[in-house]
Amino acid sequence: MCNGLRQILARTDKVLSSRGNKDIYIFRGLVHNHQVHKELLERGIKDIINDIDKIPKDSTIIIGPHSAHYKEIEMISQKANVIDTSCNRVQRVINSAIELAKNNDKIVFVGSREHEEAEIIRKHIPNLIVLTSEKEINILPQKEKLGFVCQSTFNSNVYKKIKFEVHLKGLNASFAKSTCKDVVERQIAIEELCHMADIIIVIGGFHSNNTKILTKICKSKNKNTIHIETASELNADLFKNIKTVGITAGASTPDYIIIEIFKKVLAMNRNKKNNFLDQINILQNYMRLSFYTISLYICRIKYKIFTKL
Ligand code: SF4
Repeated sequence: MCNGLRQILARTDKVLSSRGNKDIYIFRGLVHNHQVHKELLERGIKDIINDIDKIPKDSTIIIGPHSAHYKEIEMISQKANVIDTSCNRVQRVINSAIELAKNNDKIVFVGSREHEEAEIIRKHIPNLIVLTSEKEINILPQKEKLGFVCQSTFNSNVYKKIKFEVHLKGLNASFAKSTCKDVVERQIAIEELCHMADIIIVIGGFHSNNTKILTKICKSKNKNTIHIETASELNADLFKNIKTVGITAGASTPDYIIIEIFKKVLAMNRNKKNNFLDQINILQNYMRLSFYTISLYICRIKYKIFTKL
C-alpha cells in the first residue's frame, strides 16, 4: 500500500477509536479496495455518503485522498464535523492545475475522464480538456498556451509520450510534475519483471484505477498476466509449466492480502520439482517490488526455505 493511504487509514483508525460508535461516514470513498472498505464498515464506519444533503447533522465526515471542492467542504462543515485526510500528492495535481489556470493557460488533464481528480479539477476549471492517450493529441488547441497536469496515479509513460508529441508539434505548453512517486516506481519496476516472469500476478481492487493501469502495462509486456483481488482466486492450474512468478500490487492493496497471496503461491510451488530455485525467483522478484512492505516477513519466509533445504 502507498504511503499516502497508510497515513489516511491510520488517521481513520484514530477517529474510530476516539469517537466510538458515533455517526462516522466517508465522503465519496476512501480506498479503492473492497476488502479494506468491508473492514472499515465492520469497524464502525456507517457508510459512504455521496450527497451532501443526506449528511446527518452532527455526524463525522472523513474526506478521503481525493479531497473535495472547498465549497463542498464548507457546506459539509456547516452540519458535520469534517476530518480531511486528502493526500498531498493529489492536492498537488489540483493546485498545479489551478496555478496554471491563473496564468491564462488552457488546462489539459492527462488521465481518466471519470477519475475523482478530473471531477474536482473540473469544478475549478469547467472547460478542462482531458487526454487519455497521445493518440488524442489532435484535439488540442493549436494557438493557445497549454498547461498540463497528470492524474497522480496515471501511466507515467503516457504522460511522457504526450509531452514529447506536444514539443514535436511546437505547441506552447508547460507540464506540471504531478504523477505520484509511489505509483511511478511500481510502473518502472514491473517493466523488467514482465520480461523475467512466466506469469504476472497483479493484486488489487477491480475498481482501482492504478491497479487497472498496472495490469494494462503488464499485459502489454507479458500476456500471461492475471489481476486478482484475493488469494481465493488462485488455483494450481494457473501455475502449470510456470517456473517464475512475478507479483506486484496496486497502491491501495493492503499488505496482509499481498502476504496471503505470496504464501499461497509459495505453498503451491513447494509441490513442484526444482522448487527451491522457483521459490528464490519469486522471492527475488518480489523483494525488488516491495518498496514499502513486508521485507522482514520475506526474510522469515526465506529463512524457512533455507532451513527446509
Ligand atoms: S497513490 Fe499516491 S497520490 Fe494516491 S493516495 Fe497514494 S500516495 Fe497519494
